[in-house]
Order: sequence, then C-alpha cells, then structure tokens
Amino acid sequence: MFGLIGHSTSLEQAHKTAEKLGFSEYQGQELDFWCSAPPQIIDEITVTSLTGATIYGKYVESAFLPEMLTQRRIKAAVRKVLNAMAHAQKANIDITALGGFSSIVFENFNLQNNRQVRNVDLDFRRFTTGNTHTAYIICRQVELAAEQMGINLSQATVAVCGATGDIGSAVCRWLNAKTSIQDLLLVARTQERLEALQSELGRGKIIEMDEALAQADIVVWVASLPKGVEIDPEMVKKPCLIIDGGYPKNFDARIQHPEVVILKGGIVEHALDIEWTVMEAVDMEVPNRQLFACFAEAMLLEFEKWYTNFSWGRNQITLAKMEQIGEVSQKHGFHPLLLKEAVSAK
Ligand code: NDP
Repeated sequence: MFGLIGHSTSLEQAHKTAEKLGFSEYQGQELDFWCSAPPQIIDEITVTSLTGATIYGKYVESAFLPEMLTQRRIKAAVRKVLNAMAHAQKANIDITALGGFSSIVFENFNLQNNRQVRNVDLDFRRFTTGNTHTAYIICRQVELAAEQMGINLSQATVAVCGATGDIGSAVCRWLNAKTSIQDLLLVARTQERLEALQSELGRGKIIEMDEALAQADIVVWVASLPKGVEIDPEMVKKPCLIIDGGYPKNFDARIQHPEVVILKGGIVEHALDIEWTVMEAVDMEVPNRQLFACFAEAMLLEFEKWYTNFSWGRNQITLAKMEQIGEVSQKHGFHPLLLKEAVSAK
C-alpha cells in the first residue's frame, strides 16, 4: 500500500477543493480553522502498471497551507507535516510520498529530530520526498521539450533557479554530466551554497535572477516560493522555454508570450487511467492521468516493493538513483508532460 501526503496550494484553493470533494465543514473557513484541522485520508487510489500489476494507495490531506509559512504560524505548519506522517503510518501504509511543501518543511525544520508524535514512533524508512523522480522528470522535460522547440542543447544556456535546492542540485548534476548544454547559470540567494555547488560541478556561473532570465534559452524554475512570481516577458530572452517545477506553480501559464513557452515541470502522465478523485481538484488538464512526479515515486516504490526512503535528506540525489527511478518510471507507464504541440523556436 502506498500513500500520498498532499495539501492545497492556497486557502482559496482549499475552499474549492473542500467544496468539490463535499467536505462542507471546511468550506469558507479561515486560516486558523485549517491550523487546527487534523489530517484525514480523503481518497482511495488504484493504479495499474503497463506490466499489468495493480497497486492500491491512500491520499492523506495534511491540512497544511502555504499561508502557514509565516513566523506566527510556523508551529502549525510543522505540526501538520508530523501529524500527517503519523496518520499515514498508523494506517499501515508502507511507503508515503511527502508532497509539495511537506518535504521542504521536514528538511528546513530538521523534523528528523521529532520522531515521536504522541504514541507513534515515526519510521522514516516508510517515507520518501519523491525528489529523485521529480528531478529525473524535469531533466527529461528539458531534453524533450527543447527538442520539440528546436532548441539545440549544445548551443543552449540553461538557468536553474533554486539551483542549490534538493531538486535543483540534482538537475544541475544531470545537465552537467548527461547533456551537452553550452552554459549553466546557477541562481539562488545563499552565496556559500552556490559556491559549494559550483565547485562540486566544476562549472556553472553564479548569477542574479534578472540577468539569468535575460541570458537563458531554457529556465528551470525550482525555487521553493510559497506563491507565484510575476515576470515581465520583456525581461526574458526570446525564444525561451521555462520549465516551472514549483508547487504551487510559480508562473501563470495563461500569460504566455508567443516566444516564451511555459511548461508545467515535475509532472508525469500515466499511460492508463488512475482511479482517484482528488486529482480532479488540482489544476491538471487530464486529472485521471496527470500527477506530480513525487507522488508517482511512491507508486513506483510500491510497484517494485522497494520499501525504503528512496529520496531522503537534502542534496543526496545521485545520477545513479535518477537513472534507476527513471527506468522503472518508463517500465510502469509514466512519461514526462511535454508541450502539446511542437513550437518552433526558430
Ligand atoms: P529546496 O528547499 O531544497 O530548495 C529550494 C531552492 O530555492 C534553494 O536553492 C533555495 O536557495 C532557492 N530559493 C528559495 N527562495 C528563493 C528566492 N526567493 N529566490 C531565489 N532562489 C530561492 O526545495 P526542493 O528542491 O525540495 O523543491 C523545489 C520546488 O519543487 C518547490 O516549489 C517544491 O514545492 C517543488 N516540488 C515539486 C514536486 C513535483 O512533484 N512536481 C515534488 C517536490 C517538490 P536559497 O534559500 O539560498 O535562495
């Protein structure tokens, strides 16, 4: 049995989800109400692989909201993540993905030191961040969507915004070792971590966001921002492919400039329909087939019976593990979300 710990992208979206899924007591409630709401299993999931194997899972709604990431409410945010993990473990789920901000809160607040949640002694081997699969999928999106747009990687400058993060650093490792990209731009706020990454890679230019946007043919956006950013399409090099791996999505795909193409990053499409209702409440075009790559990682671990915290800790993702998860991702029928139609960059 696999599990997915998820949350809404905002209070507004939480209201819509509550309405859609029929949780009337949650509708229209203020943030304080959500701060004290307990985790709940709100969906039962069935997934069939291309191999014919079928697995079952549960969706645990943590009741966390990105609006809780303020000094005043951070304790509630931490409680949400730990309570949801304890809830999943009590439900005897073998492997659970920490979706969206759950893994970021876990890492940023060193929750590995908080094993005991009331009467539950958390067994961290039962959880995965899902970041290895997310990083692998984003890298494949870079390679395949560039091809769709006619961007030649060997002449391309790629900027990774959030380069020092768990996903960003893995993406940089892959781009450096497995592609022929011409230039790699590294963007984040903390200088020491940028320098450490640059020295690990043996390349990469540390640069400010605005400059990166002006120079990059491809932008991989994996900065952990709690809400979207607005960029002026005028500041971006044209043509440009922006792969937005953030959750919540950092860019509004509707504001597409004809030469600025925004692709939802870290999203996979399954070859067969998945039985669930919860994804209908998320902004996916094909809700019974499209999902976050981190959630798909828990499914893959369940298919393979790899009951282990495959992705854990920060900046530990290796190329070997990305290849390993990539292989089983294809085997079971997941593929990276791509552009709907080829867009010429020429
Ligand atoms: P991390 O916290 O490990 O890394 C975040 C990175 O963003 C760091 O490099 C950080 O560096 C940088 N950053 C944060 N704020 C800013 C800012 N204002 N300007 C520039 N850089 C910034 O996060 P993860 O790698 O775990 O996750 C990255 C994103 O991917 C998140 O949005 C997450 O929700 C999403 N995600 C998507 C998944 C999917 O399945 N599609 C799965 C998991 C995560 P610094 O603090 O030094 O600036």
